[in-house]
Amino acid sequence: MTGIASMLESVRQRITEAAARAGRDPRDVEIVAVTKTVGPEAIREAVRAGISIIGENRVQEASRKFAVLGARVDGKPVAWHLIGHLQTNKVKAALEIFSLIHSLDSWRLACEIERVAERLDKVVECLVEINVSGIPSRFGVDPDAAVALARQVAALDRLRLAGVMAIAPVVETKEDARPYFRMAREICGRIQDEGLFKAGKVCLSMGMTQDFEVAVEEGATIVRIGTGIFGPRRGEAML
Ligand SMILES: *Cc1c(COP(=O)(O)O)cnc(C)c1O
Repeated sequence: MTGIASMLESVRQRITEAAARAGRDPRDVEIVAVTKTVGPEAIREAVRAGISIIGENRVQEASRKFAVLGARVDGKPVAWHLIGHLQTNKVKAALEIFSLIHSLDSWRLACEIERVAERLDKVVECLVEINVSGIPSRFGVDPDAAVALARQVAALDRLRLAGVMAIAPVVETKEDARPYFRMAREICGRIQDEGLFKAGKVCLSMGMTQDFEVAVEEGATIVRIGTGIFGPRRGEAML
């Protein structure tokens, strides 16, 4: 097994154990391999090891890799997810690459996605990013405003709301992340109760290398793992 394959295997094992603790089926947890700063060769290796979703946080960096790898890697279909903040002037480029946008964080952005999607004749799946940390410099809609944004977005034709995404703040121990994940799950439940999700299954995107086990215990259906699969990131993109 390569380094990447064995790292991935260990992540899977830990997901299985966390799911068991919560009485969940580990198959209900998808892994997004977060490939910011990771080059195409390592991405190929991850796909060969079983990864089928690639997560990028910048549109430009993703465009360069998408041009090399495309939507099939070694003949296997891969989905590209945007996990970082989306600027309105990058929406068109983003819609050409990504099948799920985890980072819908304002009505203004929703309107721009609607406009561009209309022009490209696409329907775009999005998650509402909730700023559960409460840190003002972080992206995401305030927890208090998330349901209201979901109501507005549900009225758009070209956006298909599929769930919520949250990033826990940096905390001392994994356990300290739990209340933030609970908050995300609780808000997701409220949006679901109002019937605002339009996709077949509801996505709860939460948990990164530091805290994914707690996120799985709290109901995550998507975990976003970078360093846990690829090792420590270098400062710069490798492309
Ligand atoms: C970088 C990043 C991750 C992955 O972080 P790791 O700690 O490397 O697992 C997950 N989500 C988002 C939004 C990120 O930007």
